[in-house]
Amino acid sequence: MPQHKYDAIVVGLGAVGAATTYQLARRGVRVLGIDRFAPPHDKGSTHGGTRITRLAIGEGAHLTPIVMRSHEIWRDIERETGEELLTQCGGLFISSPKKLAKTHVENFLETTIAAAEKFGIAHERLDAAAIRARFPQFAMRDDEYGYYEPSAGFVRPEACVAAQLELAEKDGAALYRGEIVQGCEVAADGVTVATDRGAYAADRVILAAGAWLPGLIDDKRASLFKVYRQVQFWFEATSDFASGPVFIWELPVGRLGIYGFPSLDGATMKVATERYDAPVSPDAVSREVSADEIAAMQALIAPYLPGVGACVRASTCLYTVTPDYGFIVDPLDVGERVVMVSACSGHGFKHSAALGEALAERATMGRSRLDLAPFRISRFAS
Ligand SMILES: Cc1cc2nc3c(=O)[nH]c(=O)nc-3n(C[C@H](O)[C@H](O)[C@H](O)COP(=O)(O)OP(=O)(O)OC[C@H]3O[C@@H](n4cnc5c(N)ncnc54)[C@H](O)[C@@H]3O)c2cc1C
Repeated sequence: MPQHKYDAIVVGLGAVGAATTYQLARRGVRVLGIDRFAPPHDKGSTHGGTRITRLAIGEGAHLTPIVMRSHEIWRDIERETGEELLTQCGGLFISSPKKLAKTHVENFLETTIAAAEKFGIAHERLDAAAIRARFPQFAMRDDEYGYYEPSAGFVRPEACVAAQLELAEKDGAALYRGEIVQGCEVAADGVTVATDRGAYAADRVILAAGAWLPGLIDDKRASLFKVYRQVQFWFEATSDFASGPVFIWELPVGRLGIYGFPSLDGATMKVATERYDAPVSPDAVSREVSADEIAAMQALIAPYLPGVGACVRASTCLYTVTPDYGFIVDPLDVGERVVMVSACSGHGFKHSAALGEALAERATMGRSRLDLAPFRISRFAS
């Protein structure tokens, strides 16, 4: 039987779990956070040094208030810790009328522009000649065009997780690392969380287990998620890539898009594509990157990024994807004692700080200032 009862337990201390634990602890909630590894780590979805952030969200304008609030929270944490978390170096998103590549949703660029106009986000629409003149590192075709957002850029995921966990501990959160949650049981007076080391009681539980979330919920809900292996590549790069922007490029040939970051070290830059070959299990997925994968990526980017040289490093990462590439924030029980959250589908990091705040508000006040209704699982009901 559990001895000690917490107000809240957060399962998983990655992007969403670290943010939620931090926000709960700073509200005076007695919170326990549990992670199977020691975050930040490289086994889940939150590693590789950088994540793109943008205010006009092509996956849906309802996400813009969430990322805007995340930026404010990261700036607050930067002031408090002195850590550098958010770099607004600008973002360039390129597409073309005949492209077959898709960034998560149909009409990503058009939705991005509509969101920018709706929320008054400064931006420019550029044709190929304008992009070539300003950003000669990108080899454009004449029929391509772009959207440039000066407030876009990148966030440092490991630093964000580390800073939020450090602040949570300062505010009294208990963090158990290297402990695996096996399940939770809801009763009228609370929830018991069973781990490989013991059992803990709490009034409520937030499941933020990333790629492992499907293993902690019933089969029907779990069937909504698919986990895909992704690879991040670092290439030697010319000085053209030394400063911004981040970019997302729906390539004019083939079905793949690419995205990338400015060089952080002056010598290499990170570029990746998105692959949905076959769903994987987070425990069994291959963490090795083969020479063939590296050669294929080099061939894919060569025509578009002529200043890029040899691949110097590659690292796997996991996407947890829902059928509509949206997030899921939903209670598992009628009393809302257990809430599951999956904010990935390849674009969740930029929203994680504000989602953590909204989850903490919901746990403490029963409602959140940000609207979480678009993330209800009932949207998939036929
Ligand atoms: C290659 C790649 C590129 C991406 N690019 C972008 C981008 O440019 N912009 C953007 O906004 N987003 C991006 N994303 C998405 C973003 O990184 C994810 O949305 C976000 O990191 C997901 O966070 P999470 O908290 O859901 O999962 P995680 O950070 O993986 O956290 C889950 C945690 O739960 C723990 N855990 C799991 N099971 C258990 C258990 N049973 N017991 C205890 N602990 C458990 C794990 O150890 C882990 O620490 C990208 C993702 C990838 C993989």
